Amino acid sequence: MPQLIAGNWKMHCLAAEAVALARDIAAGAAGVTAELLVCPTALHLAAVAQALNGSVVTVGGQDCHQSKQGAHTGDIAGPMLLDAGATRVILGHSERRQNHGETDELVREKTVAAVAAGLIPIVCVGENADQRAGGQETEVVGWQIAGSLPKPFTGVVAYEPIWAIGTGKTATEEDVAIMHAFIRDELVRQFGDAGQTVRILYGGSVKAANAASLLAVPNVGGALVGGASLNAQEFLAIARAAQSG
Ligand code: PEP
Repeated sequence: MPQLIAGNWKMHCLAAEAVALARDIAAGAAGVTAELLVCPTALHLAAVAQALNGSVVTVGGQDCHQSKQGAHTGDIAGPMLLDAGATRVILGHSERRQNHGETDELVREKTVAAVAAGLIPIVCVGENADQRAGGQETEVVGWQIAGSLPKPFTGVVAYEPIWAIGTGKTATEEDVAIMHAFIRDELVRQFGDAGQTVRILYGGSVKAANAASLLAVPNVGGALVGGASLNAQEFLAIARAAQSG
């Protein structure tokens, strides 16, 4: 399976900037064997999807509501993302868990809703700095997997240690190898054989300079990229460092 390189654009880019960034990525994607995904703000999703129509780059959302419709001011439902051109959706990102109080239970409900809408969920897990300092990283991530992923689970998991997100601090290859092996074992323990094929992305200050070594670690199925995905050439360089599977 080719690796998946996903860009999380977070709350960046006005509409014209998002479309230009998408076009630049699509224009440079020839020869890239990794799957490419960009996740703009929902407001620009349709425009970005239109700009990428006919290219190899796919589009995803950054969150969706756990209901398919209803009286939820300001929220966005999975079917709306799909309708706007998304094929995947990031769920349970640490910024949503921290800033919006999202619990494992809510992330699981959102994951169920995303799958029901026809989207592939990318569910984020990862420990914070205190938890790592206390040696609790596997315990925390094990609980997050148990609580956030519905059974059966059809989707992608992103391991994103919170202390490495947007900080420039990258987990070492050894950290990544240990955590991804742990996550693989947990997926198999909790989901049986199906857990063998779940893609596990690494996220946390991935950039062109460290992508090749991180993406070569066993059980790394790709990368979830924040800051570096806002620069088309940097994002493409990460994608070119990916393994073709
Ligand atoms: C992220 O927010 O998902 C992320 C990995 O960010 P960054 O690459 O900027 O650390």
